[in-house]
Amino acid sequence: MTTTPERGSDPDEGGEAGEAAEATLGDGLEELIADVEEAIEPLEATVDMTPLDHPHRLLLVHAHPDDEVLSTGGTMAMYAEKHALVTLVTCTLGEEGEVVVPELRHLASDRDDTLGPYRIGELAASCEALGVKDHRFLGGAGRWRDSGMMGEPTNDRVDCFWQADLPEAARDLVAIMREIRPQVVITYDENGAYGHPDHIQANRVTVAAFELSADPSYAPELGEPWQPAKLYYSAIPRSQFREGMKALAERGVETGFGG
Ligand SMILES: [Zn+2]
Repeated sequence: MTTTPERGSDPDEGGEAGEAAEATLGDGLEELIADVEEAIEPLEATVDMTPLDHPHRLLLVHAHPDDEVLSTGGTMAMYAEKHALVTLVTCTLGEEGEVVVPELRHLASDRDDTLGPYRIGELAASCEALGVKDHRFLGGAGRWRDSGMMGEPTNDRVDCFWQADLPEAARDLVAIMREIRPQVVITYDENGAYGHPDHIQANRVTVAAFELSADPSYAPELGEPWQPAKLYYSAIPRSQFREGMKALAERGVETGFGG
């Protein structure tokens, strides 16, 4: 699937693309995100999106592109295959992610800072692979920026998800909950599984929206109240985590988790 952003995707214009990205930082980044969204929109328009046609509806709230696969990919693929409506809400574009592919290193936040738009394309490809047809960004693409790891200066940026206004973010999620009317909602535990600020915030926003969505006195303009039946926190068994770390260590991969 080719949903890679146009800019910089042609190897022949690598140098030029790098300059263009640099020149368009700031306001230009919003334009770039809009370009990518426009490229993906025709794909989404072909999808049958009448939520209540599906008797089973599942809503997942994740912090960054790629999180959907890391902890819930199997669940999403299984329910999508069973024709449940699987809706993925991603809260940020993952702009602060570490770029491990050398050819893509220029996308990183300390260089071109174009990782976010690039990951919109990756996320679309991920959803395609999982069979997930309904994906949204909380508040729209680029509304909240990746906060980076806990303790990093990026936690203090006014536009980052860690600094998000909780009522505003929860309201955006309530609108989706009342539209989709999911029976089951999935997000992280209170510690965001491993302490990443955006994962913690995703938990807070989801828990708040889970309560508010059912409250008839809350924002009636967002639609009929809806109480999802269940809220699950994803979890990885300690034993499985240890096995994974061991397997990586055996392959000589430095995990940063020590012993
Ligand atoms: Zn994440």
